[in-house]
Amino acid sequence: MSERDELAADLVAHGRFLAGLDAVGVVWPPKGAAAAPTLPQPVEAAGVTGDRAAALAAVRAELGDCQRCRLAGGRKTIVFGQGNPEAELMFIGEGPGADEDEQGLAFVGRAGQLLTDIIEKGMKLRRADVFIANAVKCRPPQNRNPEPDEILTCQPFLEAQIRAIRPRVLVGLGKFGAHWLLKTAEPITRLRGRVGYYEGIPVMPTYHPAYLLRNPAGKKEVWEDMKEVLRLLGKPVPGE
Ligand code: URA
Repeated sequence: MSERDELAADLVAHGRFLAGLDAVGVVWPPKGAAAAPTLPQPVEAAGVTGDRAAALAAVRAELGDCQRCRLAGGRKTIVFGQGNPEAELMFIGEGPGADEDEQGLAFVGRAGQLLTDIIEKGMKLRRADVFIANAVKCRPPQNRNPEPDEILTCQPFLEAQIRAIRPRVLVGLGKFGAHWLLKTAEPITRLRGRVGYYEGIPVMPTYHPAYLLRNPAGKKEVWEDMKEVLRLLGKPVPGE
């Protein structure tokens, strides 16, 4: 089976699973999955093509002008997530804030700037080479926490994104990113730094950059976690 056929089979199998999730109301397989997405897709890395990009575009097309949960009513923009569809490393955060809602891009506010610094200044990677997404794709009103049913409604799309990208390592940012990936409710203070697995992919839970803005002392632990991520990726660890 070619990689493309394998990917298509994966998507169809995943679709069958989604079709059972009546409560979520997701229609699958996507109608016109191969067609161009109807809404702008933010992609930071220019000129990326291929099976993963096509699979990701199909997920974006299926999401459409999503009205599946109450967050749709208060959002300006759907924040699909952005980066390299071929990323080896993927970060999962909580949900868009005001800046992200305005720009339609994940992690572009103050916490996003810190995440960029962690990736580029700390890990010596290019932000455009990773992929960044959130547990929910629409801004919760007044930046409240996303509700469990909102996370569940968005879940099939993040699952499909991860399956499309097939990163080698995932990072769960803060309790929402970490809990989503590891299907646990353990406090992030206990989870962080301990590698878990999501569908066979190593997951590093760590503190959310917004927490680090309030508690800069936590940066030391996040750096330890990011060094372990680089080791998992087989990349050079700055300072070692
Ligand atoms: N915090 C998140 O969890 N995600 C964003 O996209 C921005 C801030």
